[in-house]
Amino acid sequence: QETILEVKNLKKYFPIKGGIFGKKTLNQVKAVDDVSFHVTKGETLGIVGESGCGKSTTGKTILQLIEATDGEVLFKGKDITKASKQEMKNLRREIQIIFQDPFASLNPRMKVGEIIEEPLINFGLCEGKKARRERVLELMDQVGLRPEQIDRHPHEFSGGQRQRIGIARALACEPSIIIADEPVSALDVSIQSQVLNLLRDLQKELGLTYIFISHDLSVVKHFCDRIGVMYLGRMVEMAGKHELYDRPLHPYAEALLSAVPVMDPKRKKKDIILEGDVPSPSDPPKGCAFHPRCPMKMDICSEVRPQLENQNGRFVACHLYDQPTEPERTG
Ligand code: SF4
Ligand code: MG
Repeated sequence: QETILEVKNLKKYFPIKGGIFGKKTLNQVKAVDDVSFHVTKGETLGIVGESGCGKSTTGKTILQLIEATDGEVLFKGKDITKASKQEMKNLRREIQIIFQDPFASLNPRMKVGEIIEEPLINFGLCEGKKARRERVLELMDQVGLRPEQIDRHPHEFSGGQRQRIGIARALACEPSIIIADEPVSALDVSIQSQVLNLLRDLQKELGLTYIFISHDLSVVKHFCDRIGVMYLGRMVEMAGKHELYDRPLHPYAEALLSAVPVMDPKRKKKDIILEGDVPSPSDPPKGCAFHPRCPMKMDICSEVRPQLENQNGRFVACHLYDQPTEPERTG
């Protein structure tokens, strides 16, 4: 299957100023720290983790809304981080992002029709006023908005409808990938499933690829094909949805998933309560960043950072799965 996006050793460090006795010291928050993954055309890749784990920053860095500190983002084989202005303009069309709060990104003075028309003009996707109006109406229909709503302003819509406007505007760009950052987290549960169903239908219809960023593991479970779990700026596990939910390998993924309710009563599982808070990403623990909270911690864990490695098709960064080192051969 075709890889559409590949993220290689992505890092995003934010400088923070700290002062000790008047001296300025420069510190860094390692919001994204050496993250690698790929996205296959037509799939939905979920990225999950608690707030502050770096999942949103990963999404924004892919789009170059914030500049990567290091690493590569290959879109259709080309490194976005080195794209020229002209290339970037086209990439901004091909890779769209939908945010949790569409209201914040919808100009309150513009009518819905104008909001959806704007990218058609900016990217020259539809020539002529009449043709554009038809295209806008078509897009509105695709996301379940009614034609008579074309002259209304964003504030006249409910949260779910505003998200539909945001989706229509993204679709107007004819994107290949949509990064959806907590797209339903601000919505009521009943509205959540409507918007998720819409996104799923659009994916089938238009062959879209999604990166779905969420802290909500029950939403991700129903919506994603593969899932990456992040902790303190690092990808700690990556697996197919069923594999991950049936048998998480990483102790953090196991603890996170233990909090998700299971419908099947025969599949009772233990609740794992994590002790301690998430450490500050400006001062992440040495070795495995999860070691201060890990019930499985070993000596090596506080010394050596585990890499995300292939375990029979599953990827996990944890010393529990280290291969025994072969005895050295001499002679
Ligand atoms: Fe726990 Fe060690 Fe695995 Fe980290 S590497 S998750 S501390 S067992
Ligand atoms: Mg976020």
